[in-house]
Amino acid sequence: MMTGAQYKASLKDGRRVYFRGERVTDVVTHPTFAHQVEAAAAGYDRDYRSGADAVSSYMKAPRSIDELRDQATASVDLLTSISTTSTMTLLTAADRIQKRRPQGSEAIRDYVRELQRKDLRIVECITDAKGDRSLPPAKQPDPDAYLRVVERRSDGVVIRGAKLHIAVAPIAHELMVIPTKAMKPDERDYAIACGVALDTPGVKVINVGSTPAGLDLRDYPFTHDEFISHGFVIFDDVFVPNERVFLDGETEHAATFAHSLGLWIRAQGLAGMADEADMRAGFAQLIAEANGLDKVVHIKEKIAEMVIHATLLRSTLEASLARAQNLSDGTVIPDELYTNVGKYLGAAELPLMNRHLLDIAGGSALTAPSTRDLENPETGQLLKKYMVGKAGLGGDYRLKLFHAIRDLTASTTGSYKNLATLLGGGGLYAQRVVTRGRYDMERAKRLALRAAGLADQPV
Ligand SMILES: Cc1cc2nc3c(=O)[nH]c(=O)nc-3n(C[C@H](O)[C@H](O)[C@H](O)COP(=O)(O)OP(=O)(O)OC[C@H]3O[C@@H](n4cnc5c(N)ncnc54)[C@H](O)[C@@H]3O)c2cc1C
Repeated sequence: MMTGAQYKASLKDGRRVYFRGERVTDVVTHPTFAHQVEAAAAGYDRDYRSGADAVSSYMKAPRSIDELRDQATASVDLLTSISTTSTMTLLTAADRIQKRRPQGSEAIRDYVRELQRKDLRIVECITDAKGDRSLPPAKQPDPDAYLRVVERRSDGVVIRGAKLHIAVAPIAHELMVIPTKAMKPDERDYAIACGVALDTPGVKVINVGSTPAGLDLRDYPFTHDEFISHGFVIFDDVFVPNERVFLDGETEHAATFAHSLGLWIRAQGLAGMADEADMRAGFAQLIAEANGLDKVVHIKEKIAEMVIHATLLRSTLEASLARAQNLSDGTVIPDELYTNVGKYLGAAELPLMNRHLLDIAGGSALTAPSTRDLENPETGQLLKKYMVGKAGLGGDYRLKLFHAIRDLTASTTGSYKNLATLLGGGGLYAQRVVTRGRYDMERAKRLALRAAGLADQPV
């Protein structure tokens, strides 16, 4: 396994990363990426065990529901969490394509063993540029709008295209490249899944960061913890050797990878959303107490609604674990129906949670002065005096709550979190599709027929 220092050294491999119009020659020391690199390096150090056979706990396939729960609910840095999701996606897809493309299955398992042995981190490249959304890949004016194979050689394939929004790409080692959706028989070249190292010639990562410059991060606790870069990853005629090609042309399995990713990314998202829903309920209760309003009926009702939502969300997480299934190699995977219902619920009801929290908090959630104003001898004491709500809780205590609530709901990071919750892992439509597909509608119809006195009718 790698230590944090070895991980940092491994990033100096000539990768082509860009930010605000310039090439980033060293992501480790670059001010925009350094914090993320440090978080990932700390993750390496925490997980490190010596020995040639040691494998990161986050790159191992869970073999029991308890292991699955530990993995899904572990508090780790984003790169590690995405690496877990990617690895489990690949193993799930390997199981599902086994019959049709056994060599692809074997390639995936070898690749995952390589990731484990070298302790590498891998990110998810699924979302294509997609061009005109009303047109399928093969009918786009620019055939590269979806990533495709442009050349097949005896030793591998050459791919061209772009994958958008890719979280933490510049600080990873590997890119899991998979089709964004199902493909038709005439879209063989688009049914490509493979593993690509970040330093491969032709790979370029153009980044945006989510943190506005110049903030006093003491006033933005979530911004500080959750700065995320997103890469626009370009594959400009990139050669991929056969041993790294998982799918090539088997269009009936193009969506298998996306579905496998959908399951794992939503399962991980659900665990995070369940904790965040509890935290939002906690903030609502704390600020209601600090404002002296926690006994007021309409405030209690709003908090009760938040608590019901948070508990419902956790129930879907628990059900997705309790109904976990086994792949043929013994890997335990979460239940698709409950995972998708939970992800949907969490994303769809987030505005309600934010609305109640902000409504209870009041305007200072947006306008509370900064920590620097608190530290200024000319203003600090006055701020403390006038920020006091309920006696016994200091003005600075209430100020800190407002800062956190603002950053969670209404700052750039707050808006980012809202959008990431909605679109990360696919929008609401994607979860509706899977939910309908997995739901036992036959049983539901039988119940309805019986209740209507039509039990003898066919469903
Ligand atoms: C914060 C964040 C992090 C992300 N991280 C990653 C990542 O690490 N890796 C990765 O691969 N992706 C990532 N994504 C991408 C995410 O999965 C996509 O944003 C999402 O799938 C939607 O794709 P899009 O952004 O291209 O929007 P579009 O596909 O343009 O969709 C916009 C809207 O149009 C609808 N729509 C699109 N096409 C059609 C059609 N043909 N018919 C009807 N309706 C249509 C969609 O349902 C949606 O409502 C991330 C996104 C965000 C916001």
